[in-house]
Order: sequence, then C-alpha cells, then structure tokens
Amino acid sequence: APPEPPPATAVMARPRPHPPSPRRLDDPADLDDYRAHGGYTALRRAFALGPAGVIREVTDSGLTGRGGAAFPTGRKWQATASQPDHPHYLVCNADESEPGTFKDRVLMEGDPYALVEAMTIAAYATGAHRGYLYLRGEYPRALRRMEHAIGQGRARGLLGDDVLGQGYAFDIEIRRGAGAYICGEETALFNSIEGHRGEPRSKPPFPVEKGLFGRPTAENNVETLVNVLPVLTLGAQAYAAIGTGRSTGPKLFCVSGSVARPGVYELPFGATLGELLRLAGVRDNLRAVLLGGAAGGFVRPDELDIPLTFEGTREAGTTLGSGVVMAFDDTVPLPRLLLRIAEFFRDESCGQCVPCRVGTVRQEEALRRIADRTGDGAADDIALLREVGRTMRDASICGLGQTAWNAVESAIDRLGAYE
Ligand code: NAD
Ligand code: SF4
Repeated sequence: APPEPPPATAVMARPRPHPPSPRRLDDPADLDDYRAHGGYTALRRAFALGPAGVIREVTDSGLTGRGGAAFPTGRKWQATASQPDHPHYLVCNADESEPGTFKDRVLMEGDPYALVEAMTIAAYATGAHRGYLYLRGEYPRALRRMEHAIGQGRARGLLGDDVLGQGYAFDIEIRRGAGAYICGEETALFNSIEGHRGEPRSKPPFPVEKGLFGRPTAENNVETLVNVLPVLTLGAQAYAAIGTGRSTGPKLFCVSGSVARPGVYELPFGATLGELLRLAGVRDNLRAVLLGGAAGGFVRPDELDIPLTFEGTREAGTTLGSGVVMAFDDTVPLPRLLLRIAEFFRDESCGQCVPCRVGTVRQEEALRRIADRTGDGAADDIALLREVGRTMRDASICGLGQTAWNAVESAIDRLGAYE
C-alpha cells in the first residue's frame, strides 16, 4: 500500500460564523470536545423543527450541492421525503476523487462528528433510518476517524434506536470505495454498495425516486451535509446572507499547484479567483488556472476577476465544480498536462457506453501525437479532437464522458495551448 499522506490542513481565509470548515477542536476524536464546541446544537434544533421544518430551513437558506453540480439541497430533500415508497435511504458521497479535490478529506479528518450529526439531520428530514457513508478507499485516516465517531455516537445514544432520546432510529454504515473514480457518480456508487459493477445508471429516474436498492434516496456530498449545521444554528436567513445571488453560504476551495501555500481555503461565495490565489501566494509567472478539476476548464491569468460563484463561473464560460483551483506557472508543459488529463479519463471510463469508451481513447491518442510531434499536423488532430469531444459531450451516459473534453477544449480555445 502507498504510504499514508500527512494530515491535510485547512486555512481559514476569513472570519467565519461556524462550520463547514473543521472547527478548531483540541481532539477531533473526542465527542465531549465536539459538544463543548457547539456540537449537537443543530440536531436538537432539527428535532424541535420537525422534518418539514428542517427542509423549509434548508430550502430557504439557498444551500446547493457542494459536490460540483450545485443542485438545490432543499429541493432534493423535499423530493425524497415526499416519496410514498419506503424505506428511504440517506447516502453521503465521500468518494472524493476529482483530481485536485481534498476538502471532504479535511472535513472528515478534522471534524468527524460534524458529519455524523449532519447525516442524522438529513436522514431525519428525508424519512430515512439508515445511512451509508461511501468513503474513498485512499483516505485511511478519514476512515479511522469516521469509524471512531460512529462508534462513539452509538455508545452515547447519538445513533441507534433512540437518537438523543427523541424516539428516532438512525444508524450509519461505512462502505469503502476501491479506487474507481466513476464510483463517485451517484448511481455507480449505488451499484457499488449493492455489490454490482460500478457503472452509472441512466437518469431519470433520479435517486430521489429510485436510488439505492431502488428506493427513494437522498445522496449528498460531505461538504453539503456539513453546511446544514450552520443553516440550523444560524438560521436560514443569516446563512443566506453569506455569499451572493444563488450561491449562498461559505465555500471550501482546494488550492494546489504553483502557489506558495497550497491547502483548503474557506471563503464566502463571491470572492474573486484573484483574491483566493493571492491568499495562497500565487507566483508571478502564472500561465493558467484549472477551475473545477479535470472535468472543469482552464482560465487565463488576465481572467482572475472571475467571481467564485456558480453563476459567475458559468457566465465566464467555465465551472466552479467542487472547488478545485489548480495554478500552473509557465514552466509547466501544457501539452503534457493535457495528455495526463486525457490518460486519466481513458483509465477511469467504465466502458459502458461507446462515445466515452472509444472517445477517451481517441482523445488520448490525438493528444499524444500532438505532444510527441514537433512541426505540422496538429490542426488535423485538433479538428478530430473537437469532433470526438462533441460526440462524448452529446452522447455519453454520465458526467464523466460528458466532461472528458472540457479541459482540453478550454486549453485550446482559451489558452491557445498549441499555437
Ligand atoms: P447532475 O447535475 O446530474 O445532478 C446533480 C444532483 O442533482 C444529483 O444528485 C441528481 O440526482 C440531482 N438531480 C438532478 N436533477 C434532478 C431532478 N430533476 N430531480 C431530482 N434530483 C435531481 O450532476 P452529477 O452527474 O450528479 O454530478 C456532476 C458533478 O459532479 C460535476 O459538476 C462535477 O464537478 C462533479 N464531480 C465531483 C467529484 C468530486 O470528487 N467531488 C468527482 C467527479 C465529478
Ligand atoms: Fe461509463 Fe463513460 Fe459511459 Fe459514464 S460516460 S457510463 S463512465 S462509459
């Protein structure tokens, strides 16, 4: 097994009212320490509000999914809660695998009880009594911390048949991923838990209707769930006042690459890319920034005034995704970088549908020819890349194939990577 990486750390860039960033616990494994720092206040409020009241607060807060797609959390919970079919399930997606993303790891290692508490609230609101935590296999420290927190929760009446003495039953089972990026796609994740190959299902039906074991399922990212705690402790209006427009609340950004201080940064939505990069100590010879990870897109150094919001990045023709910000200085060979991204998608395609299975191979071949060649012929391969990219985007079953061409396209069109 590869050596375990050092603990990830978070940098709090701005004063903050409460989590989602891991609170500064003396000992993340100590439940009493967690409670002394406000732990379980949100769950008590949830029980006081009742399931419908919790969903109303979450809806009014404007909280959207932090896994990358920004779907309104309240809408997802309402849709799950209203399904007549039972049982309902809660699934926490902790299979954080987007290259350059490590915020959920920081949350689970630094504040594990926060996730246990948040999962309990989500399950209570959506009518579930069983939760699954699908945890990335390469996060052994997060696994140990979460196992310990769940064990303590059971021993202290915070999980089990009678949570907090409120007559509500809920428990959490951890399932470990085995290294496949595609198992982070929600329906492939369900198949993996059910013991099938990790291949995405066609949507609709959406998981809120037919998810895990064919039952109504609320599937949420770790950071999304942990945000529910400040929604309930601050109140929906106060939470919605953080950030801008349709991107409410604080956001964790994973900054890496050509910066002096890589790490997880917490900022309110609406800060600019330039502000974030200056905090991280960006170098003068910046060449490009990859936003949103391998499935995202590149922007140029003269575009650093892009506001870090879902709508702001979309207007700028790029994406915020799960909060990846990878900086590259002018010593990084772009053709090799693009080839590496293409290799990643070719490796990780599950092979279920032709546009992605074949397209990711053709994309890699063309990029390798361009990277290896000095001289003519790139124009033909770029034309081929565009055609293959369009087909993958239009005809692939899931987000992997639909986004496998994003970074390459943006490097060609925005950065002039092969000029
Ligand atoms: P999506 O837009 O299809 O769905 C987002 C969520 O909303 C899903 O849970 C989906 O079930 C739900 N949803 C969508 N429409 C719905 C409806 N009409 N009714 C009820 N529920 C509905 O996106 P996706 O394919 O789930 O995720 C794509 C994102 O994942 C990308 O933005 C990418 O950035 C991100 N991603 C993140 C990681 C990571 O490690 N965090 C890895 C890979 C991809
Ligand atoms: Fe599998 Fe790719 Fe098709 Fe998604 S798009 S189902 S990863 S082959």
